[in-house]
Amino acid sequence: MQPTIVTIVAGARPNFMKIAPIIAEIERVRQQGAPIAYRLVHTGQHYDGKMSDSFFEQLGIPEPHVNLGARGATQAEQTAAIMVSFEKDLLENRPHLVLVVGDVTSTMACAIAAQKLCIPVAHVEAGIRSGDWTMPEEINRIVTDSITNYFFTTTEMAGEALRKTGVEDHRIFFVGNTMIDTLLRQMPHFRQPPFWDTFGLMPRQYLVLTLHRPSNVDSEDQLKALFEVIERDSRTLPVIFPAHPRTTKNMERFGIRLNNVKVVEPMGYLEFNYLVQHAKGVITDSGGVTEETTVMDVPCMTIRENTERPETCTMGTNELLGTRPEALEAAMNRLLKDAWKKGSIPPRWDGHAAERIVEAILSLNLTASHA
Ligand code: UDP
Repeated sequence: MQPTIVTIVAGARPNFMKIAPIIAEIERVRQQGAPIAYRLVHTGQHYDGKMSDSFFEQLGIPEPHVNLGARGATQAEQTAAIMVSFEKDLLENRPHLVLVVGDVTSTMACAIAAQKLCIPVAHVEAGIRSGDWTMPEEINRIVTDSITNYFFTTTEMAGEALRKTGVEDHRIFFVGNTMIDTLLRQMPHFRQPPFWDTFGLMPRQYLVLTLHRPSNVDSEDQLKALFEVIERDSRTLPVIFPAHPRTTKNMERFGIRLNNVKVVEPMGYLEFNYLVQHAKGVITDSGGVTEETTVMDVPCMTIRENTERPETCTMGTNELLGTRPEALEAAMNRLLKDAWKKGSIPPRWDGHAAERIVEAILSLNLTASHA
């Protein structure tokens, strides 16, 4: 029987934890004789060792079959570079399905290139929406989902959103969250970061901070104001801040110096999630981190006006504070008084999403319909 060949695309940090369990599951069923194989394409959108290589090592992701090295300074340049090089790759190695994950530029660019060659597209983490068109990721989500054939969703609400746009039921698969597959699989391997003793960290006696959204880090006034309140409201608790390259660049440009906030380089997955797991709380503008804190039952304060992951607030430990720096004070008071809400884990965030995805792909019978 001819195997279904799936080209899996990954380009940037938040993609790697989403593809790892899918690749592992394809390999597992393939070794048991299932007719499926994959080709892994790294677009090269994130190329820094700390934003890419370390995740391949730590999460056991095999070497990509190709790295397209597609770089570009602006959104459009990057989109174009990825499309041009991915189209060439598709023409030389035509798969039965292109599988994209998440909401980065590579997700959208590769979906477009594939669909224009009439290769079906599957989107993992489809249907989530922030409603905020100023976020590049929201544009990536909308464009990708408008040309996706098969939608793998993390929540019921995502499926509902897709149905409202006219997507038929049989194209939507509520599989759960592959990011949580990785989290649960890697939890026994989490490890203390090397700076733990240097900073004198103790469980539940420090905060973790991540900031990288343009709306928070590109404006000098906003970034300075945020750091000012974070330094003030964290009081005596140290704040560990693995700074995203975009944020580091801006901090240098704006001449920002910090005391209580300890700036460190982007961390490996196993060290970062050890830090989060033992933290008193997390302050973030990341999407993925709000899902991980929900599952690890760690209080999370999100510095954004909206979220495409509302379940992390309605069910989980996350609270949307908005981007006005003053909003942090009341939330920090509640955290320090141990009065944070208790959360629960959204349905199907159970570590088995990748199994459901691979089972669904096999059920599509793509070799017959698109040979
Ligand atoms: N992460 C990491 N090291 C860090 C910061 C984040 O391994 O220093 C992981 C985190 O556990 C999560 C993912 O990176 O799995 C989130 O990526 P990011 O915040 O860049 O993207 P977003 O989720 O906002 O799209």
